Formats: sequence, C-alpha cells, structure tokens
Amino acid sequence: MMPRFFEYVEEDWIAQKTLELVKVKSETLAEAEICSVYAKELESLGLEIFEREVSDSRFNIYGRLAGSGGPGSLIFNGHLDTIPIGDSWPPRIDESKVFGRGSEDMKGGLAALLAMVRAFKLSGTKLAGDLWIAAVVGHEDSAAAKDGPIAMCEDINEGVLKGDAIVIAEGDSELWTMSTGSGVFRILIKSKLGATHTNNITFEINPIRFVSRVIDSLYELQQRMDNGPSHPLCGKEKIDIGLVQAGDYYNRTPELSIIEGTIRWLPGKTEAEMRHLITDLVSPIAKAGNLEFSVDFLMSREPFEISMSEAVLQSALRSSEIAIGRKAKIIGKRVVGDANIFVAKTGIPSFYFGPGYQSAHSNNEWVSAESLVCATKFYGVLALDYLGESI
Ligand SMILES: [Zn+2]
Repeated sequence: MMPRFFEYVEEDWIAQKTLELVKVKSETLAEAEICSVYAKELESLGLEIFEREVSDSRFNIYGRLAGSGGPGSLIFNGHLDTIPIGDSWPPRIDESKVFGRGSEDMKGGLAALLAMVRAFKLSGTKLAGDLWIAAVVGHEDSAAAKDGPIAMCEDINEGVLKGDAIVIAEGDSELWTMSTGSGVFRILIKSKLGATHTNNITFEINPIRFVSRVIDSLYELQQRMDNGPSHPLCGKEKIDIGLVQAGDYYNRTPELSIIEGTIRWLPGKTEAEMRHLITDLVSPIAKAGNLEFSVDFLMSREPFEISMSEAVLQSALRSSEIAIGRKAKIIGKRVVGDANIFVAKTGIPSFYFGPGYQSAHSNNEWVSAESLVCATKFYGVLALDYLGESI
C-alpha cells in the first residue's frame, strides 16, 4: 500500500523550492543569507529551530520535528554552501530540470527534505520518533576546514540534537555506505651536506638518487596493495604521487626535496598506520643516503563503513523498494565526504542517498525534478519505517 504522504509529494513544488534555494548565493564562508532562508523554511513547516553559530554570521541550522515520544531519532543532513558560482549557468527550470550552481550539490536534497515534511503535514502523517534536519555550513571549500560538519558533531556529542543514524541527502540515488580513508602526505628529504657543487661530490651520494628510490618504493607499495586485501564495494587500496620537487640548479645538489601524494586505505586501518607504513619505507633509504626526512599528512580523513546489520540500513533497503520501486544498490567510494567525519567523531552510523551526482561541480549543474521526487519519497518512507508512525 502506498503511504498517504505520496499524494502530497508535488514535483512542481520541489523543483520551485530547489530553484529558490539555488537563487540564494551561498559560496562557502558566505552562507549567512542561505542560513536564514533555510531556517525560515523549516520554521514555516512547524519545526523547532536551533541555530548554532559556527563563525561570524554563519550558522548550522537544526530543525526538530518532534515525534509522539517513540524511542528512535533520525538526523537528515545536508550542506548549505556551494563551490564558487564561477562560470556556472544561471538558475532556471527547463524541461523538468533545475539548473544552476548548487542544484544537485546539494540544494535539491535540502529541498527534498522540506518537501518530505510538507507532505507529512498535508497528509496528517505523524512520526513516533524525532526527526531532525541538520543543515550545515562550511562543507565545500577547504578554507572552512569543515567547520560546520565538525560543529554538528560537537552538538550531537553535547546532546543539542540526537540521532541513532545520520542520512546525508546527497549523492547518487543509491545507498552509499562506505568510503576509504584518504590522506595527502608530504615527504621532506633534507641533505646534511647542504647544496653542493656536483663537481665536489660523487653522483653516488647525490640526494636526488635517493628521492628516486623513495618514488620506486612507493610504487612497490602500490604493487603490494594490488596484491593485498580488496573491499567488495571499493576494491584495493591506492597510493600515488602528484608532486616531486628536488634541486634548483643544474650542477648543484638539492638541499631539500619534496614528494607529495595521496593514499587511500580500507576500513579497519588508520591514518597513523599509513604514516608508519610510509615512514618505514623512507627510513632505510634516508639512512643509506645519510639524509634527514619527515613524513606528514597535510589532510586526512579516516574511513567509514556502515554494517549491513544496522537497523537503519535494513530500513533503507525496504524503503527504497516502496519509494523508488527497486532495491537501492549498496555502494562504496574511494572518495571521502562528511560521513567520514560524522562516524569518526560521533560513532553514529551514517550513509548517503541523494537525488543524483552526475553534474556536481560542473558549470552546467542540474538536477531532475523526477529524481527529487524519488528522493523525497525515499526520505519519507525511511522516516516512517525507522521512526514509526504515531497513530
Ligand atoms: Zn556536496
């Protein structure tokens, strides 16, 4: 039987609401206007609003749709900021698609959450447990250092908002349930000789030779990873190099050499283990070359994974069949997102389901109204299944 609220999931309303949100410029660190716009939307739908100042005029917005006292609670999350508008096409609706910066990433998802609450309200559907909508700032640009998502974790840990699970309303219309860990590493190799005329030393002790050996040993690590464990959702671990700098003149040895790259590791391992792994590779090479070295991670995120046995995931699988007419696929990625932060900092099982992820960050960003309807229905059925209906 179709849930009552489906009748009030209106494609035009969701598309228009997405367009309205897209028209509010909200590049990272300049989210003040979208914060108040989204808070007003939630308030007008009857949610209790909590504003958390993250930095000057930038707020995380938490809306609580109080249940009738049921035991569970569920947080739907999204980010209010976008990447720079740049040369993005202007906001418009055309042929049942909403265009413009932030349409897919991720104002469509935020509008779908509003549409879910609206449909509950119009159909007289009441939940037993508490439903929270947590919209955060500071997701996109690394300059914000994920201040919004991190503040949300602090607020969860302090009991400001509560959830037994977190659903991020972003990404493909599938259940994205794991990401590898990811880190950007930097190896510095310092010569104890200082910069020296190459005529005054033997080639044998030129530090560049040892830099090259480090590169080879990182490649050998990738070969071991290729023969190592494989995750059913995202495959093998991966390391690669994107930057090597050594030397500044054709007949002078380098004082300092730099190797930077990325490493991605499977759930169950940590950044600290990866740092040790790289350190152990570089150490004997540096020793052989009488060189000093350091290994640092410039950025890193621990892996996340939600177990298939989690009640919320079982609920999500059931819900997808009702909402989108098929069992959603369980997927994993070698890219990281906010679920990595949420799980690492709160321990709450988290996953993603969104209206699509094919044009995010492109100049021609769009989201289809049809996929917004699917996402709205999915969120609503999931909320009902997981939190229970108050009768
Ligand atoms: Zn996004």
